[in-house]
Amino acid sequence: MKQITDSKQLQDVLGKLKRRRKTIGFVPTMGALHEGHLSLVRKSRKQNDITVVSIFVNPTQFGPKEDFKKYPRPLRKDSVLLKKAEVNFIFTPTPEGMYPEGLEKKGLSPAMKAALSLTKNLCGKFRPGHFEGVMIVVEKLFRIVQPSRAYFGAKDYQQAAVIQKMNEGLPFKIKIYVEPTIREKDGLAMSSRNQYLSPEERKRALAVSQTLFEVRRKILAGEKNLKKPISEAHRKLALSVDSVQYLEIVDPETLKPLSKVQKKMVVLTACYVGKTRLIDNVIIRTS
Ligand code: AMP
Repeated sequence: MKQITDSKQLQDVLGKLKRRRKTIGFVPTMGALHEGHLSLVRKSRKQNDITVVSIFVNPTQFGPKEDFKKYPRPLRKDSVLLKKAEVNFIFTPTPEGMYPEGLEKKGLSPAMKAALSLTKNLCGKFRPGHFEGVMIVVEKLFRIVQPSRAYFGAKDYQQAAVIQKMNEGLPFKIKIYVEPTIREKDGLAMSSRNQYLSPEERKRALAVSQTLFEVRRKILAGEKNLKKPISEAHRKLALSVDSVQYLEIVDPETLKPLSKVQKKMVVLTACYVGKTRLIDNVIIRTS
């Protein structure tokens, strides 16, 4: 496994491999790796000759009051995990390398603009500018790596939807895979931010996934009115967590709120447990 910080160097090495017709799989991350990230790596290893993992805590996707500075950066530990997982390249760019033009977000490309309609509700409502930052960095990473395939987690459902939409308008012909959420044994969705939780908060955080599973159970049991299970679940969740930003059932593609049951739906939530913001979602298939 080779660690590369310079994007030009990565492009040169990958260029040579592409000329030898090697397929490249790409897993973008912010590090502090866990089984969720490693599941994406394994999928990429299975489907491609070469796997590239980027580790970059992207400043433009954090709000001014968010956890950019304290976000965990255990690069040594991450490298050991990725080496064990037989990754070929870790790309660890610097903020200056990724943003030579500075951190101000200006001039979204047409591909990004096409995805903006998916950024207005859910997390987008509570994290203004977040998805613009995500699109900007992912477009830059796609441009540098130009993989055959790229892998994202369903854990960040809205992010995956936004990236898929943006990718349709990009010229790179990358196939995007969205892989299932990996959970702890008790159901908590794995996240780099879970390590912020105190033991007491960790117990309360369990309510997040349990609430989503409960909503799914009720709908699969025949509940037709989507408002009822949501308002009940919202009330119950608020007893365990410190605040609920949203709990919604939406269409899996448009991300628009649903009032009627349909074949495929997704129920998503974001809430705070202590100072930690947690998100999770579950797909509901009624047929
Ligand atoms: P992050 O490092 O949090 O930016 O995540 C990098 C990638 O890993 C994103 O595509 C995430 O959706 C994905 N990911 C994060 N947590 C999980 C999880 N629990 N299961 C599956 N994928 C995940």
